[in-house]
Amino acid sequence: LALLQDKNILVLGLGATGLSCARFLTSQNVDFVVNDSRQKPPGVARLKQLNNKIQLISGCWDVDAIANADLIIASPGVDINLPEIVNNRKAGSELIGDVELFCQLSNCKVIAVTGSNGKSTVVSILAHLAEYCELDAALAGNIGLPVLDVVNEAKDFVILELSSFQLETMTSMQAVAATILNISDDHLDRHQTIENYAQIKHKIFSQSKRRVITREQDLSQPITQFTTDVSFGLDNPDEGHFGIADVAGIRYLCFGDTSLVACNQLPIVGKHNELNCLAALALGYCAGWPIDKMVKGLASFEGLDHRCKQVDSGDDIVWVNDSKATNIGATLAAIDGLASSHHKLILIAGGDGKGANFNELKPALAHVDHLVTLGKDGPQIAALKADSIQVATLQEAVTASRKLANTGDMVLLSPACASIDMFNNYMQRGDMFIEAIREAS
Ligand code: ADP
Repeated sequence: LALLQDKNILVLGLGATGLSCARFLTSQNVDFVVNDSRQKPPGVARLKQLNNKIQLISGCWDVDAIANADLIIASPGVDINLPEIVNNRKAGSELIGDVELFCQLSNCKVIAVTGSNGKSTVVSILAHLAEYCELDAALAGNIGLPVLDVVNEAKDFVILELSSFQLETMTSMQAVAATILNISDDHLDRHQTIENYAQIKHKIFSQSKRRVITREQDLSQPITQFTTDVSFGLDNPDEGHFGIADVAGIRYLCFGDTSLVACNQLPIVGKHNELNCLAALALGYCAGWPIDKMVKGLASFEGLDHRCKQVDSGDDIVWVNDSKATNIGATLAAIDGLASSHHKLILIAGGDGKGANFNELKPALAHVDHLVTLGKDGPQIAALKADSIQVATLQEAVTASRKLANTGDMVLLSPACASIDMFNNYMQRGDMFIEAIREAS
């Protein structure tokens, strides 16, 4: 591959993505160096298994390796704006991510999804619908397989979930369809301002033949419009676009004036999930998938764990695990979708807020009857509501919530924060929530 020939190649980061880069480069018989600032990066053993001659520098960012590299392939977890990287790159060197490398190498049809919330849900719906359309699709990127693991597979479609960190290093994608689902405060610890974060997300539109655009939010809309654009939103859609209409008192997902499926028949709840279903249908439509087959498939999508999922608790309280709500936007969507569906709503929130401004939560907290907070930024959230209860552990949060709840009330874990201050990841947080509920009941 000319792209990789006669270059000093440096792979930055040795997690799942770094390992996939190493696997790919090894399969191409090219030499490279790996650098990770962590003393013991998670991929060390598997890198050695792959080839124990690969040079690994760990424990700091290696300025000499950075200065020496013609091509740097950075994992999304590595902040490419770090001074060690910015100040030491040699003139003319290239810095890309694994997804950019994939796009430069693959001819496969790509559907791409970004957004602050809903990405995993939408790409998983699409993967599910692909089966109903009898298409062979791979799910890759921020979810499922690292993209370079599918670069040599002959798939009908690759469905890419893209984070802002991946888009930051991308210019060569030529997706058949792409969308920005929404943009809300997230990762501002790395992207500094919402404007900068939005600008990075918008890079997806210039790299797609057709654009799927939300009508719900100005910030997510491109400045210019094309006739090939397809939009989605919660209002009545124009011809050729997706939306929601009231048919004899029942809300339906619609394509133009054709009603597709009643919202109360959808397998996942909340207005945010209606939008997710519409976005998935619009993307599939732009990719040429038959709408009738997609609509048939939608009914059997089971939803993903840790996203507004009811816990099978065996008691008479409705416990909902939304541990994946790692930012304010997700928690707002959960409250909006779930409040008033039950007698009383008790919210458990808090964790690492990643520099977000929690004031945006305040209006929604009016729909919450009791607030229980925990974690590093718990006090900031607790300050937004009178009589909130601050606890030290998730078990204590469950105990406190149980005392407050009566039959039929809902307790929602939707932290509006990352989990890393107290847990390994959001999955562990969600699992411990479920465990605490079951232990006590
Ligand atoms: P992502 O992959 O973007 O993190 P997920 O589908 O994993 O998105 O959902 C993350 C969180 O956001 C969950 O708490 C989920 O309930 C919530 N969520 C899902 N879709 C939306 C949406 N369209 N708008 C706001 N929040 C959403």
